[in-house]
Formats: sequence, C-alpha cells, structure tokens
Amino acid sequence: MTETQRTLWIRHPLACSDDAAAGGVVVQGQRIIEAVPAGHRPDAHVDEVFDASAHVLLPGLVNTHHHFYQTLTRAYSPALDKPLFPWLTTLYDVWANLDEAQLALASELAMVELLMSGCTTVADHHYVFSGALTHAIDIQVETARRLGVRATLTRGSMSLGRDDGGLPPQSVVQDETTILDDSQRLIDRYHEPGDGAMIHLALAPCSPFSVNRELMEATARLAETNGVRLHTHLAETEDETDFCRRQFGMRPLDYLDACGWLSDRTWLAHGIHFDDDEIARLGRAGTGIAHCPSSNMVLGSGLCRTLELEAAGAPVGLAVDGSASNDHSNLAEEMRQALLLGRLRYSPETLSHQTVIRWATQGSARCLGRTDIGGLAPGQQADLALFRLDEARFSGAENPLAALLLCGAHRADRVMVAGHWRVADGMPRGVDLEALMARHDAAARRLRHAL
Ligand SMILES: [Zn+2]
Repeated sequence: MTETQRTLWIRHPLACSDDAAAGGVVVQGQRIIEAVPAGHRPDAHVDEVFDASAHVLLPGLVNTHHHFYQTLTRAYSPALDKPLFPWLTTLYDVWANLDEAQLALASELAMVELLMSGCTTVADHHYVFSGALTHAIDIQVETARRLGVRATLTRGSMSLGRDDGGLPPQSVVQDETTILDDSQRLIDRYHEPGDGAMIHLALAPCSPFSVNRELMEATARLAETNGVRLHTHLAETEDETDFCRRQFGMRPLDYLDACGWLSDRTWLAHGIHFDDDEIARLGRAGTGIAHCPSSNMVLGSGLCRTLELEAAGAPVGLAVDGSASNDHSNLAEEMRQALLLGRLRYSPETLSHQTVIRWATQGSARCLGRTDIGGLAPGQQADLALFRLDEARFSGAENPLAALLLCGAHRADRVMVAGHWRVADGMPRGVDLEALMARHDAAARRLRHAL
C-alpha cells in the first residue's frame, strides 16, 4: 500500500458544520471517502486517527476575491478615509511601480494569511501589468504550488488609461492584443480542467469601465472557447452607476449583459447596487456574487442584498477583497463581518451563522464553478479547516459552531488541502513566517518610497 492510499479518520470533532459528518470524516489520498455519523465508527478500514475532540470541523473555506498585491499598501495614510474612486486614483500611482519581486512576496504573504485563517482555496484578481510586471500570474501560480494552496488565479486587465477617460495611469494599461494573447498563453500553460484541480485560470477585466467594450466581448468569447470562468467588479458604488449611465447610457448590469457576460460562467465582486429586476436576472442567469463585507464597510459602499440574490438563484460566496480596503486577509474574521453586516439588513431569524458558513464554503465554491470543494461529503476533495476554542474569547461558549463567528475565530489550528496538512498548531508548514513578514514589510516600504 502506498503512502497516499492510507486512510486517516478525523475522529469525533467537538462540532461540525455538516450533521452527516458529526462523527468526522475519513480521508484517503486527496479525497474524503466517508462522512461518519455521530457516535459511529467508519465503515472503511482506518490506518490512522486524528483526535478532533477539541476542534470544530469545517470544510476548508473558499475565498472568491482578493488583490494579493494590495497587502503592500495596507493602512496607507494618503488613501485613508476616501470613497472608492478617489481611493483608487490615489493608490494607482503607487501600484504602478509594483515589480515582480514585490508581487511574489505580497502573494505569498496573502496566501499564508488566508491559509492560517482556515482558507484552502484562494482566488486572486490581478490586473496591474506594468512594463516591470509582465509575469504576474506565472509568479502567483509558482507561489500557490509551493505553498500547496488551491487557487483560482485571474488574468486581469486594464486598457482604458487616463488619456482615454479611465482612472489608471497609462503605464499600467495594455492593448487588447497583448491582453488576449497573454490570457490564452496562461490558460494553455496553467489551467487544470477536471476534478481536484489545484490551479484554475480565469479571465478578469478590472471592471467593465477600465477596458473597452471590444475587450469585454472578446474576453467572454475567449473564456467560453477555453472553458474558463469570467470575473470582474460590478455594482460596488452609486458613483459607478452614475459613471456608467453617463458613459454608456445604461446601468452597470445592462452593460455587462450587452457585453455577453450575464451567464453562469461569471462571478462578480461586490454586487451591491442591484434593483429587484436585476437580482431576478442574475438569479436566472446563475451569475455568482462575491460578497466582501469588510471592504464594503471600509469604503462605505453599501450592503449587498445577499439573501435576495440567493433566493433568486444566484450563488453567493464570501471574500476578503484586496488588502488596501479591508485591510486583512482573514476569511474566518470575514464570516463574522458578514453575519454582523447582514444583521443590519435582515432579521436574526433569517440570517444565521450557518448561512454565513455556507457562503464561505459551498457558496464560494459555486462562484468559482467547483463542485469538488466546499463540503464534507464522500468524493469531495480533502480540504478541511479545524478550529480550537481554547482561547479566552471562547471561554464559556455553549454552541461551538456559533462561537466561531460570534466570539470571533481568526486562526485555524489545523488546515488540510488535498489531503496534506498545510497548517499545524496554528502555523503554516514549511514557511518561515517571521522571515517572510520581514521581507514583505521591506518590499512595502520600497514600493511606497518609489513614488
Ligand atoms: Zn476588488
């Protein structure tokens, strides 16, 4: 019997988000082969046991939207206390100087931070491609593989610079042919179709207003031809709706639809300012929404209508968003934020901690077009997050699952990706965290001082 065929029973967790796995799960190779009911032993032969009696067991969390490079501009004074558009124009001038070494460190730091919060699948939206940064996605693929994290990496784009009425400086926009050719190269080189993929490629213009219409349409065609997903920011602020009305004579969703994007191939970051009719259209199309509660609060953007979107049929997932508008990359903390922000719109009876955990797992997996992650059923990938409740903040809690959100869990004790432990005792395996932070902080200083 080879090492990968050995079975491991994650035995009798303190609590579990899935009642069918209340007695734990059995892992073989990179998959879950059995969910064990409460009080039972597995049917499968068990080679090894991990005693989870002090742990709350969740499927690995799935993050649907981030900008890893922004970890280099966290809590940056010139961008503080600004709404989206002035915030963006302030930061674009800093981001325009980003180089490959800085991006590599930013991506590693962000992925490690996510992993430590219980996240096993990360999605990044990278759209800054200056002359010094042509291999951004290649660098991110290499980093994700080295860390053993599952990733959907999106080839972003901007083609409308300040000379054409757009927001970013000319030095970070590219022409249509360069963008499409590089998108095809990256898909051919890195996208893994099929079950158990560690790397997915997706295509992601920064927003429908930072590229021209031809590129939006061509990107949709390229994604369909290659069987990859489409992603962009949409309906984040009222400013955006006004901009879109002026520029195109229609609302953002109408423009997205006109460009051939309103489909179940697409997931959108934010999705706040939709009316009832637009929510029904998104539901019918099966277009996913990456809900980013902390970012929406920091920038004062508004409240996503999550429950109406889900009821209409649109998958809703959770995301930390980029670290210049959150400013952490902690998906466990984001679950708490989603619950608290949601309670400002919905009654406590209609929005529970279980709903939010479902968004961060199954809902997020659906946004990324995956059925092999986000759950604990047999056949699913062995992506697991285990949290201990032995900190002062949890002391006295009666309901362990609710305690994760209400008491504010922020660090997983154990994290497994594709059958491999990537976090043990709260620390990432194979990563010198202190050294990484020192290099990352120096890179952030360098970037700020390049201005
Ligand atoms: Zn974003």
